[in-house]
Amino acid sequence: MELCVRCGYPATALMTFSYSERVVTLTQLVGVVRRPPGALELCAGHALSKTAPVGWVLNDELGSELSLFTVEADNGS
Ligand SMILES: [Zn+2]
Repeated sequence: MELCVRCGYPATALMTFSYSERVVTLTQLVGVVRRPPGALELCAGHALSKTAPVGWVLNDELGSELSLFTVEADNGS
């Protein structure tokens, strides 16, 4: 089980960086066979709240699918 690098919650998304093109890509973690170097695992909550660094483009390939998993990530009350 991959865990979110930010909070330790089970990760559902993978954030990868293309330094040559300055593109940050968010993809579903499921189905990723080989992690690119420097890739970060993120839970649904952190993936959705992520923004690209200044000067970078955010390529969000998660679409609306990830919203199905945005449960009990942060609010445990
Ligand atoms: Zn997280």
